[in-house]
Amino acid sequence: MMLTDLADVLRAAGLEVIEEPGWKTRGHGQMIDVLGVTCHHTGGLKDLSTIVNGRDLGLPTELKGPLAHLFLARDGVYHVVAAGLCWHAGESRSATMTNSHRIGIEAEAKGVPGTIGDWPKVQMDAYARGCAALAKRYRFGVVQVLGHKETCAPLGRKTDPDFDMTAFRHAVAGVDLSPPPKEPDVALTDSDVAKVARAVWTDDPPLVAQQTGGALHELDLRSASTEKRLGPIEAQLASNGAQLSTLAGKVDQILALLAPPATP
Ligand SMILES: [Zn+2]
Repeated sequence: MMLTDLADVLRAAGLEVIEEPGWKTRGHGQMIDVLGVTCHHTGGLKDLSTIVNGRDLGLPTELKGPLAHLFLARDGVYHVVAAGLCWHAGESRSATMTNSHRIGIEAEAKGVPGTIGDWPKVQMDAYARGCAALAKRYRFGVVQVLGHKETCAPLGRKTDPDFDMTAFRHAVAGVDLSPPPKEPDVALTDSDVAKVARAVWTDDPPLVAQQTGGALHELDLRSASTEKRLGPIEAQLASNGAQLSTLAGKVDQILALLAPPATP
């Protein structure tokens, strides 16, 4: 199988994605299935082209690219490199941990503990979110989010990634993939308009400026200050009938001023 939906899966999780040209057909053949993800660090910086093309000249063919499906830059952007088989795992502790069964993510990091600037938060957040999205899509448990240092044989052959994988899996498990709530539309009702007109009557220059500037729809009628201002006015209206009728006349005038000019 070719994992041609990788870019879509990550984007749907709210991640920034760059599709490297040709990724949908790139690979050393097909994947058998996806049983999990293997996390790596590159051990260097700006080595996207190495992940795409591999290491050349005099090295074993196993190091030809692609070396991972995904390259996670330190700015948190995923580069999608390949949809097919990638050579990232090497000798592994079990068959389920080999290249044919695992999505490889190479994250841009020096991977030397104590390196200043290694693993910025935006990158770690994207790492966890990406793994969570892949786990959901390919239906594997968070326990199958493994570090190369956990899958390699013999153990100790690899040290990447150089962060605590148990804590990382907790972070992956805690990722909320549900879409963010939509902001409610604030539609103005006739009663809202009347309230604004009454506020204008108080000769509040900012409010008047907002209205005459045509920004009526942006006015937040539910702001605490507006509500506070309306309270005393409404109390005053209730207690004084004469003033109420004068006010109503003014409101009519204001509403007329706000209305579009009548065509002759
Ligand atoms: Zn590795």
